[in-house]
Amino acid sequence: ADEELETVAELSKRRGFFFPASRAYGGVAGFYTYGPEGASLKRNIEDSWRDLFVTQEGHMEISAPDVMPEPVFEASGHLDGFDDMIIECPACDSSHRADHLVEDATRIEEAESLPIPEVEALIAEYDLDCPVCGEALTDVPVEEFNLMFETNIGPGTSSPGYLRPETAQGIFVEFPQLKQYARNQLPFGVAQVGTAWRNEISPRRALVRVREFTQAELEHFIDPETDEPPLERVADVELTLYPADEQEAEDGGEASDASRTSSDGSDGTYLTMTVREAVEENVIASDWVAYYLGLARDWYDRVGLDMDRFRYRQHLSGELAHYAADCWDAEAELGGDWVEITGFAYRSDYDLSKHGTHSDEEFTLFRQYDEPQRVERATVDPDMSVLGPEFGGDAAAVADALRDLVEHDPDAFDGETVSVEVDGEAHEVDTAVADFSREEVTESGEHITPHVVEPSFGIGRIVYSVLTHAYGRDTVDGEERAYLDLPAEVAPTTVGVFPLMDKDGLGERAREVEADLRGAGFAVTYDDSGNIGRRYRRQDEVGTPYCVTVDYDTLEDDTVTVRERDSTDQARVPVAELPATLTALRAG
Ligand code: ATP
Repeated sequence: ADEELETVAELSKRRGFFFPASRAYGGVAGFYTYGPEGASLKRNIEDSWRDLFVTQEGHMEISAPDVMPEPVFEASGHLDGFDDMIIECPACDSSHRADHLVEDATRIEEAESLPIPEVEALIAEYDLDCPVCGEALTDVPVEEFNLMFETNIGPGTSSPGYLRPETAQGIFVEFPQLKQYARNQLPFGVAQVGTAWRNEISPRRALVRVREFTQAELEHFIDPETDEPPLERVADVELTLYPADEQEAEDGGEASDASRTSSDGSDGTYLTMTVREAVEENVIASDWVAYYLGLARDWYDRVGLDMDRFRYRQHLSGELAHYAADCWDAEAELGGDWVEITGFAYRSDYDLSKHGTHSDEEFTLFRQYDEPQRVERATVDPDMSVLGPEFGGDAAAVADALRDLVEHDPDAFDGETVSVEVDGEAHEVDTAVADFSREEVTESGEHITPHVVEPSFGIGRIVYSVLTHAYGRDTVDGEERAYLDLPAEVAPTTVGVFPLMDKDGLGERAREVEADLRGAGFAVTYDDSGNIGRRYRRQDEVGTPYCVTVDYDTLEDDTVTVRERDSTDQARVPVAELPATLTALRAG
């Protein structure tokens, strides 16, 4: 299993998919450079994602800054809560993720959802040592470590900023502007493909856990009472599901599920069912999440993941983020381990409510009633100059708090006094002084905070999974070859063009064919070095689906040989028909 990942790492480095960055200066863990092949593969996967989630699904795409000011992350909760558990070795000063040490030493999974004292107890119980120097870690405290990269905006330190740990916040903060583009109509979705940064304690497993990575996120804003997903579009898509209760039933995590890579449903652990069945049988609680699991399943297949090494795993209740009502991860099996590549979360109104409370902007939308409604409305005196000297400098803030309260909880005014909190201090206000009253009015609608459904794709992990799943070996003409069976849509090069030999005008003719194909929009590689067999092998190894050879017959009849990577079948095709033939082949 490890061998598979080592082979992929070696291939990636040698053929220019990805390699550790800044090697000239010793390198630094958690940063990778995508080489020419990798950058192209990555971009093609991003474009394919865009094609589905923006173009086909009809959502908008934005590009927000990587750096945002501190208040954004105060509101989002990242400043306080975006922590991992760190343990520092007293002997060699190396840092480690305490939950990962526990996971590696035991069969416990998702140790990050355990409280710190429990993790400390497990470290003691299993006598864990520092993986670098071997010093005992018993009695070393486990602490919280915030994963955000901090920086200063402008000179000085008065304006701290953070590199975004997820692209999502850039969408949430701009909701007041974005809702105008959506003409204040729900539902609408906003997508973003961009860099996210996390100062991971221990980067590992190549592109799986790095400190700078690309996310492709969609925030779909919905009215939870009226909006429903177009489930019929994905109803028949078959899903491999690993629900929370199946995981919990499994011996408290004693069984290592990493060994089970089959998805035929026969081992009783996974449920194999269609989206329709999963919704009907309530295996997936949210129809919206079910919709995206179905949509994404076909997309992973489209970009080249092996569907026999793929599953959707539901979060255990202890693992759920505080805002998430239900969450499923797409997981790919890599070298015997299951790796999360995408999170699908129902985030409710958590994010927009937070930004609504922390900022001065309006993060709500107006929901029109079918019929105007007579409703009882509570009011407080808008002036409230009556709030006299006893409130001191807080009078204006107390008045604001009262106005806010009457909108959200008019019943709080039913007694003789009402209590509001300003800057942590409670104030009792006489309801008569606040001039509270109720009146009947006609309303045409109400302000609601939209809910959010979020598929959050990690592009680097997907690139890595696609590479790993695409890698294979077989024998062609008695010779072993390594290949990547990448789908044509994502392969870095679509077609390799070779002159049989670089003489007698073959090279010139091949260059013309190359230019024509480039002009027709194909990603082309030209190669005239080594024998034809070796040139095929080179293209097979980087996943090029088609190769075109210009030979002596070409000079006679203007046909070329088109060779297909997986079958190695060859056919003669007139040069004039090459673009159409390749387009048809690519479309499958
Ligand atoms: P993990 O538990 O593995 O740290 P997460 O649950 O924190 O991941 P999310 O916050 O849900 O991840 O982020 C969404 C996606 O972003 C993940 O599914 C993953 O593909 C990607 N991602 C998150 N952290 C990293 C990282 N350090 N390196 C590469 N990709 C990452």
